[in-house]
Amino acid sequence: MGRLVMKFGGTSVATIERIQNVARHVKREVDAGNEVAVVVSAMSGKTNELVGWATEASALHDAREYDTVVASGEQVTAGLLAIALQALGIQARSWLGWQIPILTDDAHASARITGVEGGEIIARFKNAKEVAVIAGFQGIHKDSGRITTLGRGGSDTSAVAIAAAIHADRCDIYTDVDGVYTTDPRVVPKARRLDKVAFEEMLEMASQGAKVLQVRSVELGLVHNMPVFVRSSFDKPEDIDPHGMPPGTLICSEEEIVESQVVTGIAFSKDEAQISVRHIQDKPGVAASIFGPLADASINVDMIVQNVSEDGKFTDLTFTVPASEFTRAKDTIAKAKAKIGYTKLDTATDVAKVSVIGVGMRSHAGVAAKAFAALSERNINIRAITTSEIKFSLLIDAAYTELAVRTLHTLYGLDQA
Ligand code: ASP
Ligand code: MG
Repeated sequence: MGRLVMKFGGTSVATIERIQNVARHVKREVDAGNEVAVVVSAMSGKTNELVGWATEASALHDAREYDTVVASGEQVTAGLLAIALQALGIQARSWLGWQIPILTDDAHASARITGVEGGEIIARFKNAKEVAVIAGFQGIHKDSGRITTLGRGGSDTSAVAIAAAIHADRCDIYTDVDGVYTTDPRVVPKARRLDKVAFEEMLEMASQGAKVLQVRSVELGLVHNMPVFVRSSFDKPEDIDPHGMPPGTLICSEEEIVESQVVTGIAFSKDEAQISVRHIQDKPGVAASIFGPLADASINVDMIVQNVSEDGKFTDLTFTVPASEFTRAKDTIAKAKAKIGYTKLDTATDVAKVSVIGVGMRSHAGVAAKAFAALSERNINIRAITTSEIKFSLLIDAAYTELAVRTLHTLYGLDQA
């Protein structure tokens, strides 16, 4: 017997029929003797519609009221699933964020969870064998008593937070893909599903553009060491052996991964823009004069590359921002020109970032060198390089993204046999 959180995304609860299918998945686990808390998203498309309504009512709306509106999608699916479960003879009760409560800060529309009270859910497991059906995506800010939401895709984060609070053995994320792949299968048909991926790797993959899970949910998994299993909700519940492990990807701690693969996956993003600040003084405070104003404007800077100057006087600095922030970033730097003291800005928006990720890099030398050689053979120019312990990222011309990803995927032995 175990304790599970089962999370179902929007496509899995898109219709009443699919909600009934979800109920059978839950029943399967209950029948196998597990204590189950379910976390649901809104029906697919619903949150977009609600966001649209809020914006239509007024483009500049109060974020607290936005949350009141968009949180409603999950209330509907939580209630419907509880009904569907009861119809199968399973004790079930729905819970909204404020009822649990899932406590958050007051950053409306992108609130962070500060605490989850799991006691009542556990008590009901024990006393009534009751399944808890919890509305994802939402919480409550205690001091104001207002409903909050956790940012788009936030029900993944709700699920992991609940799993930690009720001391679940595992958090299963049922979604419309059957796991995490070595790279995007639409770009590389030979991409493989990973059996296991370390939290740190998944964080890199998720923030590098792989869209399976909300990044914060992976952070929470890491902090609480809560194994997260990504699996398909379209498998027929009756076909699944509750005692075996179905296809999917387990996101877990590095220690549990024994395979010897050096590279785990390749992520890429075309949503990048490059800004190079030319001929700045090589002295304390110059980097701060560039990134301070960007931070004040809430612009997320990603790669930062600065050269060591030859003469100790002048250097160049290059950084990347999301393409959508490019104009704002450029204007911000231009406004600070006098303070920064550069000669000119060189920019490019037709660039892409390709990242090679793997915890195996900690203990292997020469991993990146192989990539440089392989890309040069294909005549792909590298504009900038950054590295961390378990990742290196290359900025290249966007036109070469697919070729670069495929080349690296083959190079590191990730292609499916
Ligand atoms: N329904 C919310 C959204 O679409 C939360 C989620 O699905 O995770 O963003
Ligand atoms: Mg999602």
